[in-house]
Amino acid sequence: MPELPEVTVIVNSLNKKIKGLILESVEYDWPRKFFWGNYSIKDLKGVKVTSVDRKGKVVLIEVSKGTKGAKGTKGAKDITILIHLKLTGQLIYQDAKTRVAGGHPIPPLNLPSPNKTTRVIFAFTNGGHLYFNDLRKFGWVKIVSSNKYQVSSAIGELGPDALEISFREFSERLEKKPNARIKKLLMDQSFVSGVGNIYSDEGLWRAKIHPARSVASLSDAEVKALYDGIQESLKLAIDKGGSSANSFVDSGGEKGLFLTFAKAYYMIGKPCSRCGTPIARKKMDGRSAHFCPSCQKLK
Ligand SMILES: [Zn+2]
Repeated sequence: MPELPEVTVIVNSLNKKIKGLILESVEYDWPRKFFWGNYSIKDLKGVKVTSVDRKGKVVLIEVSKGTKGAKGTKGAKDITILIHLKLTGQLIYQDAKTRVAGGHPIPPLNLPSPNKTTRVIFAFTNGGHLYFNDLRKFGWVKIVSSNKYQVSSAIGELGPDALEISFREFSERLEKKPNARIKKLLMDQSFVSGVGNIYSDEGLWRAKIHPARSVASLSDAEVKALYDGIQESLKLAIDKGGSSANSFVDSGGEKGLFLTFAKAYYMIGKPCSRCGTPIARKKMDGRSAHFCPSCQKLK
């Protein structure tokens, strides 16, 4: 599942490729996950992409109507196209000269698009296309007016961004949830947004904290180590081009490298790089936790 680093990597490369392009048409074959709100297809014809951004794990494509290509729309409100990749979403932009792809690695990101997993096609006047592929159809697209309230309510309750939250805010928010299990809480997007299964495992391994421990059992030093561990693993993944499942492929079509640096996630049976104990995997709260049974004791 694409998490904050993967979405950051896709957003950064889309920003370079589609900013300034004029939208020609939108086609989609999964209306149950396409929400137009007060808009319709004709509202997107002729709009210009002004930026591509991220909020939590959601991709935000900002478009403006007050540009050439759209007639009689002076002063019209700007529109935000929100895309959530959820479990298996991919975003692929392709034109005559270039191709960038990011998201879940199944089906392979180098497979020609459109294909049978393609749900939405955004066509631009330069001949380029942005494909939203989603094998399992959990992802969604929402079209809303570009104001804070509309965008926030479309996304749902989101805690502070995992990359932007300060240590102080992180520890204050933890104090309010003494009974929560730490891994489950870290993956709760209303607690902190952007962290999922991968980076909760990685952060907890770095801080030597068992994923099932309660927040109340964490010492001040452990809370600090956890904050630092999450920051480090997110930044490392972004530097390396993101990671997802076993074979994340980054926006340039290169394999994501982060997993070669992963310390816990999906390292089942491999020796812990601190103590040599095989990394274990255990189902917890419906998700798999990966951890070192020696370094991360359940106290
Ligand atoms: Zn260990």
